[in-house]
Amino acid sequence: MPAISPYEMLEPCVWRSLLARAAVFHATRRMLGHLCDLAEQVKAVEMVLDQLQIRAQEVSDEDDDATAIARVVSAWDEDLSRVLELKKVESDVLRLLAEVRASLDHVCGADPFRAMFDAVEREARALYGTAWRPVVLSLAHIRSHPRDAHPTVDPYAVTATTVWSECPDRDEAQVELQIFGERFGPAAYAAVPMLFTHECVCHVPARQDRVRNDSAFAEGLLDWAAYHFLALWAVKLDRELGPTTRKHAERLKGVLTARHTTRDGAARQVGHDAAGNLAAWFESECVMSADESFHRVARLAVELNMVDRPLVDKENLVSLLYSPPPKVEQDLHSWVQGTMTTEQLLDAAASGVT
Ligand SMILES: [Zn+2]
Repeated sequence: MPAISPYEMLEPCVWRSLLARAAVFHATRRMLGHLCDLAEQVKAVEMVLDQLQIRAQEVSDEDDDATAIARVVSAWDEDLSRVLELKKVESDVLRLLAEVRASLDHVCGADPFRAMFDAVEREARALYGTAWRPVVLSLAHIRSHPRDAHPTVDPYAVTATTVWSECPDRDEAQVELQIFGERFGPAAYAAVPMLFTHECVCHVPARQDRVRNDSAFAEGLLDWAAYHFLALWAVKLDRELGPTTRKHAERLKGVLTARHTTRDGAARQVGHDAAGNLAAWFESECVMSADESFHRVARLAVELNMVDRPLVDKENLVSLLYSPPPKVEQDLHSWVQGTMTTEQLLDAAASGVT
């Protein structure tokens, strides 16, 4: 049977190389967080994960999905068995690798990217309700690390983008997950739920005139909300991967927020700081618990995303949230009490009355 790819932008052999690794990571997901940590400290673990990369890149153009996965699993199983014979590797490391090896019996041919995207979409759709926009998933291969970073500093060799349909009678979005195949390891796999959550919370349902990747609203305040929702959803998305999803979302946030000299990094920092200050304002001025104040900030971000207004108005409000002037404080109190809608809050800020 001729090999095909379910994703238009992926060559069949690239798809199968990614699928084989994702299938292994999915089957071993309960141990994945521990495996990532040990890979940074134990040479034998780093080596055996490198071997998996090499095995996956050896898949043939002719193989179908099941055959390609079976070949990679069988070859990697042999690699693991040789590491398990090493005498100088500590016993707890060997125990983990033996557990990983036993989990290979559960590797299946289902597409883990699709399953994860469907799970994130289900949660985001429930969050946005009728404002949700139909969305399709696409996968693409990129030829370098998205931030040109060294894997020890930034192992997240994946990124994602969302585009909206240009056809006026088709209100649809497309999320594209872009993977640098040469460095698609367990940490990158563990970050995929966060990337999908960012796209689904920040961009898929957005109602505004344009896209800017250095927007303190779309890439800042909303990004903060996306991390908030990912932390809430992680276990619902996948019980076994949940703790690792949370851990790597936080690590990815650390990597991305450290890039404050870039325009998108600066926008992220401005939006995250505004969210943090607004949460503190809710907590002190509206006598909310920390949890409630975080949830209110995330709720405000999501509601602003649903309001069809120019992006510049939303960015203006973000700039005011950093240290709200008296009129904005008064409006925020009205918003919390339900006597002012999110549209009114936004319009009052945009009109300059504040
Ligand atoms: Zn974004």
